[in-house]
Amino acid sequence: MTDSGGAIRVEIVRVARLLRERGLAIGTSGNVGARLDDGRIAVTPSTMDYDEMTPDDVVIVEPDGTPSEGRHSPSSELQLHLAVFTARPDVRAIVHSHSPFATTFAAVRREIPAVHYVLALLVEPGRDTIRVAPYATFGTEELARNAVATLGGDQAVLLANHGAIAVAGSLASALGRAERIEELATLAWRAEQLGGATLLDADELDRVRDQMDRFPRQRSTMPT
Ligand SMILES: [Zn+2]
Repeated sequence: MTDSGGAIRVEIVRVARLLRERGLAIGTSGNVGARLDDGRIAVTPSTMDYDEMTPDDVVIVEPDGTPSEGRHSPSSELQLHLAVFTARPDVRAIVHSHSPFATTFAAVRREIPAVHYVLALLVEPGRDTIRVAPYATFGTEELARNAVATLGGDQAVLLANHGAIAVAGSLASALGRAERIEELATLAWRAEQLGGATLLDADELDRVRDQMDRFPRQRSTMPT
């Protein structure tokens, strides 16, 4: 993403619309953010219908949250985006969703286990679940702190009684990861109906990563 804002504004609107088209967001729930090359942060505006949103509606703020460009208020989860971008220099894009199955796990405050090998793309080596950040009221610094602490070096985290976050190096990849979180939560829920999945452990997820390195085409079809 080499850009001072224009192309990223367009991409944020595209990804926000896809969030809803793909069933990951209902109404105006969820939000999308990206880091610009100059360090500023672009985010979706607060409570705006994704169908009505245009690239000019995207809000740009300084890394500390000071308004920079835009005619709207930023997403209510601006603190969350800023905290993740500050803590994770590798992250260029964040997709926050309230997707149904992932949010069900978040409501039960249950981690999403490794029911499928794609979980290897979403967690650090040594981990075998998508973890759940402790509950805090939406839009607060406490929620942002909890999310960053639980996310650690992972690419995905659930927010208790709230939703999920996917992070990545690009908006398209963050959207793909948000879909993977929902896919894993759906599989885990379905497996429960059949008595529960046989889970993969962290060692197997390491082998999956090695295989993906050996077969780049396989990885290229995955959100990385
Ligand atoms: Zn939310």
